[in-house]
Amino acid sequence: MGKRDGERGGGQGAAPGITRRRALWIGGGGAVAAGVGALAAQGELAHWWWRMPGNEKPRTAGAVDFRGAQWVSASSENYRRADRPADYEIDRVVIHVVQGSYATALDVFRDPDHEAAAHYVVRKDGHIAQMIRELDVAFHAGNRGYNERSVGIEHEGYVDRPESFTDAMYASSARLTAAICRRYGFPADREHIVGHVEVPGTDHTDPGRHWNWGRYLELVRAELRKPVPQPVKSAEKPADKP
Ligand SMILES: [Zn+2]
Repeated sequence: MGKRDGERGGGQGAAPGITRRRALWIGGGGAVAAGVGALAAQGELAHWWWRMPGNEKPRTAGAVDFRGAQWVSASSENYRRADRPADYEIDRVVIHVVQGSYATALDVFRDPDHEAAAHYVVRKDGHIAQMIRELDVAFHAGNRGYNERSVGIEHEGYVDRPESFTDAMYASSARLTAAICRRYGFPADREHIVGHVEVPGTDHTDPGRHWNWGRYLELVRAELRKPVPQPVKSAEKPADKP
């Protein structure tokens, strides 16, 4: 979990105006072109324009980035509105454990004084709440650069209780992580799917030694081997015939 590990923590406190749009993350014209090419290669041309700076993506109240997730809005104090991946490239998933229940996570992420929240919370039965859009920078990793480049996923339970991590939770979380890897075009490996404990500068230990990384990565990769669900084209929608 990310209590008091907002992005100002960990010695990342340089002036926001200077660091907000670092060239490293935003890329120049060349980086944008490369991004488009990489996405096109993966057959995700439909989303290429997301990468073009200045294209504000449409936001619909209650919309989620992962099909089936329940929208539960975090306090706007616990994230920073952004326009990812146009302004910051997304190439990491950070795995967290709540050290508490699903309900506790929702409560504290809705609390404007908590100063932290993740994009998603996964319940032990596999149910997923999305609390922050992937467009936005959630304060979950305690490291500004990692917050800007990652999607944070919290898991109900406790690091020292192996029974916290249920089959349903692993399966559901793996589907979510696979969708994120696919959406932003980064590989499902331990360089790109990391634990909070691995974020530079953190003093957090989650997800802990009972989190089964081998099993989790296998599940994520199995999801990625499945065919990409194709969106229904408007021409294929049933039309009102005169
Ligand atoms: Zn954490």
